[in-house]
Amino acid sequence: MHNEHDMPALAPQDAAADTDCRGCGTCCRKGGPALHAEDLALFRAGHLAPEHCLTLRAGELARDLDGQLRPLERELVKLRPRMAARGGDWTCLFLNQADSRCSVYAHRPAECRALLCRDTWAIQTLHAVERVTRLDVLAAWAEGAAARASAAADATQADAGQPHAAPAGCANPGVPWADILAAHEERCGYAVLAPVGAALQRAAEEMRARNPGAVHPVPLPGLLDLPDAPDVPDASGQDASGQDAAGQAGAAEVAEAVATFLDAVRFDFAFRSLVRERAGAAMEELDFLLGRTLAATAVMYGVAVRMTADGPELVLPPGSGS
Ligand code: SF4
Repeated sequence: MHNEHDMPALAPQDAAADTDCRGCGTCCRKGGPALHAEDLALFRAGHLAPEHCLTLRAGELARDLDGQLRPLERELVKLRPRMAARGGDWTCLFLNQADSRCSVYAHRPAECRALLCRDTWAIQTLHAVERVTRLDVLAAWAEGAAARASAAADATQADAGQPHAAPAGCANPGVPWADILAAHEERCGYAVLAPVGAALQRAAEEMRARNPGAVHPVPLPGLLDLPDAPDVPDASGQDASGQDAAGQAGAAEVAEAVATFLDAVRFDFAFRSLVRERAGAAMEELDFLLGRTLAATAVMYGVAVRMTADGPELVLPPGSGS
C-alpha cells in the first residue's frame, strides 16, 4: 500500500526496526480503504471524488479485520475497485498494476497511511473510528466543488455578472440526497429485506442438499416441487404433488420471497436510472450513491440474479450445488 518510506501516522512509538512498507501492493489488492472523517478534506480539495467510492450499506456482508464476513451495523464508504468487483477482484482503483504504485500516494486516505501489514496496530486503532457516510462525502464534495467553481470564476472574471451554471450530479446542492437515499433504503434496504433474504437462504440450502452435483444455474424455486396450482389435500393430508401442509406453506413462503426480492431488484434498477436521469449522476457514481446493486449482493443469500428476456430471475449459482 505504501511505496515510499513512510511511518504510519498512528504507529506505536516503540515500533521495531522492520516497520517499513516494501510497496508490494498486496494490501491494495485486497480492497481500497474505508474512509474516515479526516479523509473528507481530500474530497473538499478535489483529490477524491464520489465516483472513486463504493458504499457498503448497513446490513451488507463485509469482511472484518479478522477475515470473517459479518453484516455491517452501519454503512461504510470505501475506495472502489478498478472495475465492478467481478471474480472477487477488489484491487483499489488507484493501484498501478504494472509497478504496484499508488497513483494518489501524496493524498491517500487515512487507512492507507495507517496500514502496515506486518504491524496492524495502527489500522486496528483506526478501523471503526469516525467512519463517514454517503451524506458526509456528498456534503464535503459539494462544498469543495462550489469553492473551486467560485475560485475559477473569480480568476478568469470571464463570466462577470453572469449567473454560474449549476454544478451537475453529486455537487449540485439542489439535489435532496438525504430523501433520495432514504427512498431507496425503504424498498432496497437490507433490514427491510432480511426476512426475505432468510427465506431465500433456506431455499438455496435445501436446493443444494437436493442437487449436490448441480453445475448449471438452477432457477428458484424450480427444484422445490412447487405445485403449479394449489390442490385439494387427500385423506393423508397430501396434495397431488405429494406435499403435506407444512411443505406447501414452505413452498409458498419461498415463492413469495422470490417474488418480493425480484420486485426489489427491478425497483433498484429503475431507481438507478431515475437517479442518473433526474439528478444527473454519472454511471460511475451509482455504486457510491446507492451501494452495490441488489443483483450484485444477492450472493449473500446464497442465490444469484440472472437477466433474461423477461426480466431478472433468481437462480442457485453454478457450482454452489457441489
Ligand atoms: S489509495 Fe493507494 S495506498 Fe490506498 S489502497 Fe489505493 S492504491 Fe493502495
